[in-house]
Amino acid sequence: MATMTLKNLNKIYMNGVQAVFDFSIDIKDGEFIVFVGPSGCGKSTTLRMIAGLEEITSGDLLIDQVRVNDMAPKDRDIAMVFQNYALYAHMTVYHNMAFSLTLRKEESDKIHERVMWAAEILGLKPYLNRKPRELSGGQRQRVALGRAIVRDPKVFLLDEPLSNLDAKLRGQMRKELKELHNRLGVTMIYVTHDQIEALTLADRIVVMKDGYVIQIASPVDLYARPVNLYVANFIGTPPMNFFDARITSDGKVVIENVEVDIKHTPQYEWLNQKGYFGKNIILGVRPEAITLRRPFNQETDLGYKTKIELYELLGSEALVHFNIGQKSVISKINAREVLHPGEDALFNFDVSHLYYFDKETELCIYE
Ligand code: ADP
Repeated sequence: MATMTLKNLNKIYMNGVQAVFDFSIDIKDGEFIVFVGPSGCGKSTTLRMIAGLEEITSGDLLIDQVRVNDMAPKDRDIAMVFQNYALYAHMTVYHNMAFSLTLRKEESDKIHERVMWAAEILGLKPYLNRKPRELSGGQRQRVALGRAIVRDPKVFLLDEPLSNLDAKLRGQMRKELKELHNRLGVTMIYVTHDQIEALTLADRIVVMKDGYVIQIASPVDLYARPVNLYVANFIGTPPMNFFDARITSDGKVVIENVEVDIKHTPQYEWLNQKGYFGKNIILGVRPEAITLRRPFNQETDLGYKTKIELYELLGSEALVHFNIGQKSVISKINAREVLHPGEDALFNFDVSHLYYFDKETELCIYE
């Protein structure tokens, strides 16, 4: 169990590439932290600096308040699980898990106790005498985790550990990992490019871009209050819809051919106070904040008219594609509402759940 502090960590590689800029975070004891961002944004580099596999160019790394920048990886008491978990093919599951303890010359009774403990937690007891090739992908991944947990490390680092697994197994392993974390209560840092993994696993998520930390927040806060256009676009499936819009001088939002009345929303006041009336902005609408239904009375129905382009059933929900002016839009609705391509429908925005972004800075505008 351990706290960890990253203070203005920078990484410049030998070739001059700066992969990480001023990364700072205080990680609580037992916290599950996920670094998320597209490939190349500096997630693995940061993880490898924590593990001691990459030198830290500048900044401080503290584990339990002790600066460990210059400490050898083996002395940091950190275990790392990689995407290609590279089990020893000629060794049984038991010996794969016992290996690091044997290297450390632990007593054989203790090694046996630790391996059996890990096997119990990970459901690997029936497979202890098998070789890795006799296991499924999920079981192999569990052995890789087992190899790490037998050592009882202070901190776990996991670098895309599930990306070799198929979608169903990934879902299952996600659940198992979360349960493992709850059970061990150990500090974990997990790297992924998959925002769903980040949302489902993390206590807090660090969103990265081009080597920079863009936002650190809990999954709920990240979804509800993205700091800017990048985060709003990255978190959520399907992503938020964005429109070039204008706020009129009397506080109406105009997108394409649609005028949205926001007078009764809290945003109305602060957009006015911050001087956005009469200005161009970017409007963000999450797919679930758009309702769609068939028009039943063109005269009295509230809402804007459109034509359905595509209806995709996902199970209990459905995605509906339609256009607002030139812009193609996705709405997520309850699948009980069945709509057909080509038919007319009405759509409405949930005006209390609109996001407004400054056109210059791309920052989301909050009170
Ligand atoms: P991620 O894990 O988010 O995919 P990485 O941390 O692997 O990103 O890489 C961040 C940046 O650093 C990328 O531009 C990558 O090309 C560069 N990079 C990674 N490793 C090295 C290296 N050993 N030497 C030089 N540049 C590197």
